[in-house]
Amino acid sequence: MSATRRLYYEDVGLLEFEAEVVARTEHEGSPAVVLDATAFYPESGGQPWDAGTLNGVEVLKVVEIDGVILHVLRSGIDGGRVHGSVDPAVRSDHMEQHTGQHVLSQAFWELLKGETLSFHMGPEVSTLEIGLKTIGDAECDRVEDRANAVVREDREVKTYFVPEERIGEVPLRRPPKKQGLLRVVEVDRFDYSACGGTHVRRTGEIGLVKLGGIEKIRGNLRFEFLCGGRALRDYQAKDRAVRRLAATFSCAPAEAPAQVEKLLADSRALKKRARQLGERLGSFESQEIVRTAAGRVIAGVLEDKTPEEARSLALAVIKRGVFAVAYGAAGESQGHLLLARSDALKADLRQLAPVIAAVVPVKGGGGPSLVELVLADKGKIKEAVEAARAWLQENA
Ligand SMILES: [Zn+2]
Repeated sequence: MSATRRLYYEDVGLLEFEAEVVARTEHEGSPAVVLDATAFYPESGGQPWDAGTLNGVEVLKVVEIDGVILHVLRSGIDGGRVHGSVDPAVRSDHMEQHTGQHVLSQAFWELLKGETLSFHMGPEVSTLEIGLKTIGDAECDRVEDRANAVVREDREVKTYFVPEERIGEVPLRRPPKKQGLLRVVEVDRFDYSACGGTHVRRTGEIGLVKLGGIEKIRGNLRFEFLCGGRALRDYQAKDRAVRRLAATFSCAPAEAPAQVEKLLADSRALKKRARQLGERLGSFESQEIVRTAAGRVIAGVLEDKTPEEARSLALAVIKRGVFAVAYGAAGESQGHLLLARSDALKADLRQLAPVIAAVVPVKGGGGPSLVELVLADKGKIKEAVEAARAWLQENA
């Protein structure tokens, strides 16, 4: 079987084509065909495969195994002659990201001597691993500015084949990984790469090039980046989000982060203050509760308290005398049951957990004198408190 003719090498704009099926097989449980020629790019070099159809049947995946290009299909197709159709939107997107990667890689090398170690094109963002230990905002901006300047210069992107023995004449950014006849992708007098991917014909087609999040990996830096349509959609979404934030705070977009930080600091201070006041209130309330208590067991559902406030109150009560307390309180989504007793009492409150579990599923635990249970069903707080009261009256 002779090798499939790669139409995407000859004309990257050719998306509709006719071909002969030269072999039929299976790949991961799906039918697959080999063609005499194809415009479908197979997954390789960090770039995903092209989407599209063969005779109207969805192409699930295109892979190259030992030099054979397999078109994996949603269902089997009949006949020897097929019409192939490559999805133009997916192809354009891949060309924008991939060519943008070449330009970015050269910008990193030219400005920072940052070598490209790996590239991965994801369905939403792509990543580039660069041999740099650190980078500042100003350096990121310089790399982006250089890449976008090359885009605006609308340089030609040329592809040509060079035999291995003459590849030394080409100023490649990285040594080639393959042997034999090598395909060179040249961003006119700017970047030379040995690459088998699909690329735009002029850098202007890349559109915007934008770096995103940075992560440390294997002692290097991994940059997220977006090009073309992806960069525009990202800008639209972020612009909308930032403008909404700025409108909420009635501030300029650039001031929104500082406003959010201030709000968070205020919120933390208020929570602390509320906790202090809650403790003081609990101290007063506990006096009244102890004064009117009938017996050593105090139990009830605290309608207007948070679980934290119920806990403070229970702890305040058991310090004022010899008491066993069961307080129920509603949390945001679950019910809470607080069980506490004075040191003078000896009952192990952990034994109450299975008793409550017979009423409603619970999680949590504690020690012999303090147990906190979270109830799966908020509606069962009252029943749980009554079960605890009955047990404490018997055992505490
Ligand atoms: Zn490439």
